Amino acid sequence: MKNKCLWCNKSINNELTLSFILSFKSYQEQSLCNECLHLFKAINNDLCCHMCGRSGTFNSNKCSDCLRWQKIGDSLINHSFFQYNDVMKDYMQKYKFNGDYRLRKMFCKYFEQYLNSDMIIIPVPVSDKTFNQRGFNQVEGFLENVEYLNALLVNEDKQTQSHLNRKDRISTKQPFKLKHSMKNNIFNRNIIIVDDIYTTGTTMRHAGKLLIDNGAKNVQGLTLAR
Ligand SMILES: [Zn+2]
Ligand SMILES: [Zn+2]
Repeated sequence: MKNKCLWCNKSINNELTLSFILSFKSYQEQSLCNECLHLFKAINNDLCCHMCGRSGTFNSNKCSDCLRWQKIGDSLINHSFFQYNDVMKDYMQKYKFNGDYRLRKMFCKYFEQYLNSDMIIIPVPVSDKTFNQRGFNQVEGFLENVEYLNALLVNEDKQTQSHLNRKDRISTKQPFKLKHSMKNNIFNRNIIIVDDIYTTGTTMRHAGKLLIDNGAKNVQGLTLAR
């Protein structure tokens, strides 16, 4: 079976080994060749912050950012698959900003394998303006074969946050709204919020706070990169 690597465009030789056939696992077409797969640095679950997933070794297994979040009473747990290295930055540029929608396929299976039907899965939304420019929500692209709930909307009048410090940012105006019809769906449920990148954790926390304030039982985060 032959298909092309979505990143380097070379043919991928997918030899089905006997042990694979005997394992009765369903066959998934590879979208990345092995060389390209190694360019993206997977986060090692044993060598990262146990709160946000940042790579490295930390005292008490928490990075300095998360220790600060904890000090203000916030202990949101996030899981990420890959480090946000130069190749991942390049990927985001091509997928999200240049709008190459095919590239979503490179990482769909990571989300499919991690998520399960016991969780209420809610992607971080994009604004109408962004959606119209880009043509898609890059987070929903990763969830192609996953059942998720489109429960959040962007509060269109949100202010820019770049000049604000951490404490101010989390206390600024909520950038999201919950769709009214979704209140019953989230009530007393465990929610997993999905985003593309975890940078400061502020976006995730705004979404999380909104869901908790509306009756969700527990909220955690999942992103492609950290
Ligand atoms: Zn490749
Ligand atoms: Zn952390």
